Amino acid sequence: MGRGRADGEGKARIGAATPPGLTCPRMGNVTTVGGPSAGQSGQNDGQRGRAREAIRKASNVLVLTGAGISTDSRIPDFRGPQGVWTKDPNAERMSNIAYYRSDVEVRRLAWRARLDSPVWAADPNPGHRALLRLEQAHKLNLLVTQNIDGLHHAAGSDPELIVEIHGTGRDVQCLHCSYRAPMQDALDRVRAGEDDPACPDCGGILKSATVSFGQSLNTADLGRAEQAAIDCDLLLAIGSTLGVYPIANVVPVAKSSGATIVIVNGSPTEMDDLADVIVRGSISEVLSEILL
Ligand SMILES: [Zn+2]
Repeated sequence: MGRGRADGEGKARIGAATPPGLTCPRMGNVTTVGGPSAGQSGQNDGQRGRAREAIRKASNVLVLTGAGISTDSRIPDFRGPQGVWTKDPNAERMSNIAYYRSDVEVRRLAWRARLDSPVWAADPNPGHRALLRLEQAHKLNLLVTQNIDGLHHAAGSDPELIVEIHGTGRDVQCLHCSYRAPMQDALDRVRAGEDDPACPDCGGILKSATVSFGQSLNTADLGRAEQAAIDCDLLLAIGSTLGVYPIANVVPVAKSSGATIVIVNGSPTEMDDLADVIVRGSISEVLSEILL
């Protein structure tokens, strides 16, 4: 899987204009399904049944996961009410490449935060494991995750079928050369006393292999996601508010290609009007029920 370099050509930027091929966030020919009004607990059993039936009938599934699938593994959602950014404004500075490059104090804070990251103690939860059933049934086309926690890999999903569209926190990479290594190697140096470990090859700045604000997404990964959105007959969006672009565009792309859209999330999303089925509730519990 071609994870992104920090810079270079041919990349689409987070939050910037959509890349070629993902240019239809709200296409005119999308049919808005007058589907379920989700969030009403009395209807939830029916929605779970509809979701289960849609998945049973599907043969080519694109899964998109966001932070909500990992909250049951005690990894906080960055943007939620208990989110890291909500509670610590410095965290957002650490996630911005301009601050990270220019301010050694931001980098020192970032390394300390990485040492303390809840990711190292986190295990996959039943939601991650439930997705394995799609693979076992040979229905999974691609598993695109916005998460950087590596928990789909840890759960045993086929790495060849995973796209970590925002990178991974389990590796570090150099902002200046092609050096890349396991995060734990760099954290060992921080534990040994280095507060801003430099690249061992070129002396440049090291950063987690995640896509920060201001950095580019990998266009090959975006292309795989877009192709899967075109090819799939069902898109299962899990634990994402579907408000981070360009990856959220896979929803209208899949919809306009005729796919059934199933959304599983704890709260409303920005794409609910495109959904055929919406299921609210505990994500790990819902996935365990609808992926049989
Ligand atoms: Zn380097």
